Amino acid sequence: MAAFEHFKEHVDSAARLLGLSDTERQALEKPDRVLRADLSVALDDGNTETFPAYRVQFNNARGPYKGGIRFHPEADEDEVSALAAMMAVKCAVVGIPFGGAKGGVTVDPKKLSAGERDRLARAYARAFADHLGPDSDIPAPDVYTTSETMASMLDEYERLIGKSAPAMITGKPLSLGGSLGRDTATADGAIAVLEALLEDEQLDAASLSAAVQGAGNAGAHAARRLAHMGMNIVALSDSSGTLLSPEGIEVEAALAGKQAHKEFAAWGEVAGVEKVMETEAGLFVPAALEEQLTKDTVEALRAKYVLEIANGPTTPEADRALFARGATVIPDVLANAGGVTVSYFEWIQGRTGERWELNRVSAALSRTMQSAYREVADIARARSVSLRDAAYVLALGRLTDAMRARGRC
Ligand code: NAD
Repeated sequence: MAAFEHFKEHVDSAARLLGLSDTERQALEKPDRVLRADLSVALDDGNTETFPAYRVQFNNARGPYKGGIRFHPEADEDEVSALAAMMAVKCAVVGIPFGGAKGGVTVDPKKLSAGERDRLARAYARAFADHLGPDSDIPAPDVYTTSETMASMLDEYERLIGKSAPAMITGKPLSLGGSLGRDTATADGAIAVLEALLEDEQLDAASLSAAVQGAGNAGAHAARRLAHMGMNIVALSDSSGTLLSPEGIEVEAALAGKQAHKEFAAWGEVAGVEKVMETEAGLFVPAALEEQLTKDTVEALRAKYVLEIANGPTTPEADRALFARGATVIPDVLANAGGVTVSYFEWIQGRTGERWELNRVSAALSRTMQSAYREVADIARARSVSLRDAAYVLALGRLTDAMRARGRC
């Protein structure tokens, strides 16, 4: 129950700050609906295999349910519920008119062929079609699902309903109405927030060194952007180990090496995966997995700033330790909301038939992220709380306003 329990701890703390009643707090901690299905998929060898699947529709008080679908061997109801809850909070923090949802299939997609993955995606869309749609629940990619997965789901959904509905899903290929800038949106959004924070602190990016954990979609682009800002990237890791260089890693060369050889360990000399958290660096960017900073690992962390691109990388205990020592954590629900923000822009484009230029997407993303940061930072200053508590205060305030207006709490 770890992931959902962590979410509840954050809600409890913000609910106390907001003075919410027990009934209001409980309403914010309960999913609207948990949908389950067993998906039967024809395998290439002629057999059929069944995979458990979930769609958790957490809260739609502020707009249609919104959230990605992950294909992962460890995806289960608790994890999907916690991620659905975080989506409701994220959308409220950045002020976009969506609620929160998340989907998952318990499967190891690396063991499936492209055809099997396509049939699994179609089975998912068929199983939950009655609950999905541009005005009801809008999925997107997440861990181990891609724009191709979204294309399969959209195609299956449109076949079922017999008409075009591009706004029912985001993260689509550009050829089917995907948005420019969606692939780098999460990292770009996190960098926009970091820039606003550095401005607040009157800090020059070039005076900071950074350690980046994870070099996947989000981490690789974040490392690239940080290097362009003039930061020295002294550590960069993936699941095979940590590249270290006090003089600064050549990020483009390292990423090209990883692409060619699949992992850093096959390209260059690496230290253990934990070293990325133990290196002397002013900024630590977790962009891989949840629960990396725990009460044990946080002891070795030197960073003054943490930019949470991963979902849930810091346990509540580690979070308290960081706050006590004066470190600033830019929380996941703010730092990684760039992906869903550009999904919102994609949804608008799907509904209006407009096509936005990349410059328009990038400018609107920066504006949304930086204005959310300023609102969060103002609350943190006024109440002397962490940016995480402040982000939850902002989000829960917006959610309870909407729920009260609907007579739901
Ligand atoms: P990804 O699968 O593309 O990349 C994950 C990276 O983490 C890989 O490079 C992998 O090698 C590395 N990794 C795995 N275990 C590791 C370990 N022990 N130490 C160091 N690195 C390790 O995933 P992604 O899309 O980049 O997502 C990363 C995180 O960001 C996840 O928590 C995800 O939920 C979150 N996130 C991503 C997006 C997005 O748009 N991509 C949006 C919001 C949140």
